[in-house]
Amino acid sequence: MARLVMKFGGTSVATIERIRNVARHVKREVDAGYQVAVVVSAMSGKTNELVGWCKDSSALYDPREYDAVVASGEQVTSGLLAITLQELGIPARSWQGWQVPISTDDAHGSARILEIDGTALTGQMDTGQVAVVAGFQGIHLPSGRLTTLGRGGSDTSAVAIAAAIGAERCDIYTDVDGVYTTDPRMVPKARRLDRIAFEEMLEMASLGAKVLQVRSVELAMVHQVRTFVRSSFEDPDAPHMGTVEAAGTLICDEEEIVANQMEAQVVTGIAFARDEAQVSIRRVEDKPGIAASVFGPLAEAHINVDMIVQNVSSDGRYTDITFTVPTADYERAKAVLENAKASIGFEVVEGAVDVTKVSVIGIGMRSHAGVAADAFRALAAKGINIRAITTSEIKISILIDAAYTELAVRTLHSLYGLDK
Ligand code: ADP
Ligand code: ASP
Ligand code: MG
Repeated sequence: MARLVMKFGGTSVATIERIRNVARHVKREVDAGYQVAVVVSAMSGKTNELVGWCKDSSALYDPREYDAVVASGEQVTSGLLAITLQELGIPARSWQGWQVPISTDDAHGSARILEIDGTALTGQMDTGQVAVVAGFQGIHLPSGRLTTLGRGGSDTSAVAIAAAIGAERCDIYTDVDGVYTTDPRMVPKARRLDRIAFEEMLEMASLGAKVLQVRSVELAMVHQVRTFVRSSFEDPDAPHMGTVEAAGTLICDEEEIVANQMEAQVVTGIAFARDEAQVSIRRVEDKPGIAASVFGPLAEAHINVDMIVQNVSSDGRYTDITFTVPTADYERAKAVLENAKASIGFEVVEGAVDVTKVSVIGIGMRSHAGVAADAFRALAAKGINIRAITTSEIKISILIDAAYTELAVRTLHSLYGLDK
């Protein structure tokens, strides 16, 4: 019998009423003949509340206990969904991460899955029981401690379980009916994509589109899991809900998209991230080894640097270096640089936290010139100043003032013909 993984996010299980609705979606697939493993998130808002409680208890909380606290949200919803399924006459039981077991490393708060032994799970599923797995959590087996997979980690739980049990598909149910050309909450003209390539989804997710956790897309790509993003808010028994192609976005190989499209789009989507800050070092001596002396200490402090711009100085003696870091590390980054001031040699460190990185993504950019130039021209026409730029084969990222985020995203969305 074919197996299916169905994942439901926080808004989809926010109340008992919504959990009942989820149970009806599960029933539809059970009735269609699938062996189903469900993965659930905590009720929406719950994880934020639990995180807040940890921070209120101690600024320097023990990360192992943080995981013990924040993993509890998913324990509740997995049990509640099992009860609700039983109420509908469907045999079901809940599984915590350690019961499966979902084995992870010990990076508490952002652990990575090492292995999932699906034997117990599939053994029960073979008897006709629905497995309701608590998302977001695992266990570090050597220490026997609970772990969590980082915010949004239930997506990753779902894809990893799908790979482990050889599921035919992994359906990610959320509060939108698929992956859009940009966040539909910001741009009402955003269009739903029928398909998006793994590589593009990976860029979209890592550049700010939080519809899927980045790690889940990596896993889906590596293990070739057919992943489908769809809405839990539609009538579970609507006729089109049974046919996946009509009701969401399939994340798949590039070849599958090319085969389904007469002409490839150059740009597939626009993403934006508000959680980066700009750091600029003014009047750095322009000599060999200077970049190493700036970025070495930042790396040692485990601060991730993203966009980097270095000016060519006119007199050949001094230069400015601009780069971005996660906003959470902004003050620390400035302190690290001040500490290394003597060895680097610069005039002043400045920066800004009210900035946004807007990115244009599309595999079609590989074979098209001029995509970046068009973006710069369109932003200039709206009077939007560009602070930094980075590009790769399939994306362009532009750092701008946060106040212009919406205008920039909408402008680029129209520019590349993405408006519906
Ligand atoms: P869940 O709780 O189900 O995991 P999330 O809030 O994590 O849901 O992800 C869904 C949200 O992602 C949507 O409500 C939407 O606002 C946001 N989002 C951002 N970018 C996109 C995009 N390109 N397509 C669809 N949704 C997007
Ligand atoms: N509940 C967790 C979070 O809010 C995991 C998830 O929803 O995917 O981050
Ligand atoms: Mg999510």
